[in-house]
Amino acid sequence: RPRVLSGIQPTADSFHLGNYLGALRQWVALQDTHDAFYCVVDLHAITVPYDPEVLRRRTRVAAAQLFAIGIDPERSTLFVQSHVREHAELAWVLGCLTGFGEASRMTQFKDKSAKQGTSATSVGLFTYPVLQAADILLYQADQVPVGEDQRQHLELTRTLAQRFNHRFGETFVTPEAYIPEATAKITDLQEPTAKMSKSSSSPQGILDLLDDPGPLRKKVMRAVTDTGTEIVADEENKPGVTNLLRIYSALSETPIPDLESRYAGQGYGALKKDLAQAVLDTFTPIRERTEKLLADEEQLDRLLARGADRASAVARQTMDAVRDRVGFLGRA
Ligand code: ATP
Ligand code: MG
Repeated sequence: RPRVLSGIQPTADSFHLGNYLGALRQWVALQDTHDAFYCVVDLHAITVPYDPEVLRRRTRVAAAQLFAIGIDPERSTLFVQSHVREHAELAWVLGCLTGFGEASRMTQFKDKSAKQGTSATSVGLFTYPVLQAADILLYQADQVPVGEDQRQHLELTRTLAQRFNHRFGETFVTPEAYIPEATAKITDLQEPTAKMSKSSSSPQGILDLLDDPGPLRKKVMRAVTDTGTEIVADEENKPGVTNLLRIYSALSETPIPDLESRYAGQGYGALKKDLAQAVLDTFTPIRERTEKLLADEEQLDRLLARGADRASAVARQTMDAVRDRVGFLGRA
């Protein structure tokens, strides 16, 4: 079986619809065909200002949500990144193979650091894509299901894998990004040209998996639409309606042209009402299962420990080879 790896940051109290459609739904589906490794990437979450107790809570909530959406601990390896020390270790080695200029071109760093200002921006945020490359390469992943915003980081991962292999001998699989186009970029409901994001969307612009039904419905009904009344997908002129059509199409598994004809002659309100219902139908069972899982923290932590054991076994093997190839003296 080909191997798949992906990660998600515990940077909020809930994952959102963009995470779900852009990545997590694929994580669940890929379990059927792939040997799957999924991690809650807490090392990445400390690249921006945070509170330690909040991080610990969010890490558990993140894991619970992943089990709740259908990641099966019997079939997949789900773990917390900091439980496997090799991530940080490999990141150091790869960092020494990454050019400063090369890292400086990462647009996500440029965006996030511009928002924070240079004095608040950590070196960790700058080297984040190198750590991400380590996450992937440690497990020899063939495919990495992510949203469009990760394409550039994936390209860097591929470059680093090839560079390492060329310099030190064949060691890493060169992974491919797996980015289904229809849901690759879900946008903010209030700002339909910006991506929906845990850290930068306003509460009104984001649909959280763990939101209550009332607020979810309200946010969908108040989503920014465009001038005119026609319900058609048109990225250029109607980014708001296009985003809603994309979301509804994915949730209802109905092609966009079918939706366009179904809603022809009706106002935006009709589409929004049905979309709100589809969102609730998807999110409610996830929220309920998450709450149940969080009620037994010991059981949840045990599942994560098992995942970490399985992940460590693979990571250790890769790292042993890396240490040897790069010329570190083996410990007697
Ligand atoms: P942050 O704002 O803290 O970076 P995020 O919302 O971008 O949070 P991540 O944990 O960075 O979430 O990313 C998890 C996964 O979700 C990644 O695969 C990412 O590509 C995907 N993703 C994030 N936002 C979207 C979106 N709006 N549309 C589609 N996929 C998305
Ligand atoms: Mg992100």
